[in-house]
Amino acid sequence: MQFVRKIGIILFFGLMHFAPSQAQKNFQDIKQILLKNYNNIIVNVDSNFVYFKSGEKLPLNNSNEKKTFEDTLNYASIFDMFSQNYVYGKDFQIPIPKNFEPGRIRNDDFFRKIYGNSKNEVNKNLTNVVWLPKNYGIKIKFSRINGAAIQLQKVSDELDKLPKKFLEYLEPIGGTFNWRVIAGTNKLSMHSFGIAIDINTKHSHYWRNLKENKNGIYPYHNLIPLEIVEIFEKHGFIWGGKWYHFDTMHFEYRPEFFKNIK
Ligand SMILES: [Zn+2]
Repeated sequence: MQFVRKIGIILFFGLMHFAPSQAQKNFQDIKQILLKNYNNIIVNVDSNFVYFKSGEKLPLNNSNEKKTFEDTLNYASIFDMFSQNYVYGKDFQIPIPKNFEPGRIRNDDFFRKIYGNSKNEVNKNLTNVVWLPKNYGIKIKFSRINGAAIQLQKVSDELDKLPKKFLEYLEPIGGTFNWRVIAGTNKLSMHSFGIAIDINTKHSHYWRNLKENKNGIYPYHNLIPLEIVEIFEKHGFIWGGKWYHFDTMHFEYRPEFFKNIK
C-alpha cells in the first residue's frame, strides 16, 4: 500500500513536471490580465462579459462543457484563449506536446473589437515600422493600437544589433498586414489585424506542409535561432514555433501572455 502510494506521488509530480503548462484561470485572473494589457480599450470583465470602452461587450463564456480540441480552436471563447500558458524563453519542451499551442486558440470577435472589424477599419489604424533601420531599412505596416507598432519597432531596433549571421532569417520578410483567413479554416489570421509578422519564409517550417508520422504526430522542425525568438518575446510577441501546429516564421503581438514587457 505504502509502495503504491509512493509510486502515485512520484507519478503525480512527474506528470506535473512534464505536463504542458495549463492555465487554471478564473474570470478574476482574466480580468487582471486584460485590464493590464488592453488598458483603455477593455474597461471591465465580470464572470459573463468583457466590456469595451466603446460601450460594447463580448461574452467571456467560461462554460464547463467539454469541447474537442478542434471545436475549441474553431469556436474559441475569450475564456478559452487563456487555457494554455505560453512558455517564455529557450526552455520549452521539444517535441511539443500534442495540441499544446498557447496563443493559437483565439476568439476572432475579441481581435475585431480591439484592432478593427474590417479590412478598412484595421487599415486606418496601421502605421509604419522601420524594419532593421541600419541593415535593411524598409517600412512595414503594423497596427498602432495598444502599442503594437511601438513594440515591433523595439524588436526591430534590437534585432538590428544582432551579429550579421542572423540577418538571413530577418530579411526579406514574409509580410505583416494581410486581411485573410488562416489556410484550411474560416478564421481570420492575426495578419488581418496588423499585429503579426512573418520573417524570412525561406527558413520556415509549417505543420501543414508536413505529414503526420505513424503515431499521428506532426514531426517538429525549426531553424529559427532562439536569440531572435527571445527578442520578440521580450517585447510582447509570441512565436508560432512554440505550437504543436508550428509555424516558425510567425510572430504576433499578444501582450496578455507575458508578465513583464519591455
Ligand atoms: Zn504569419
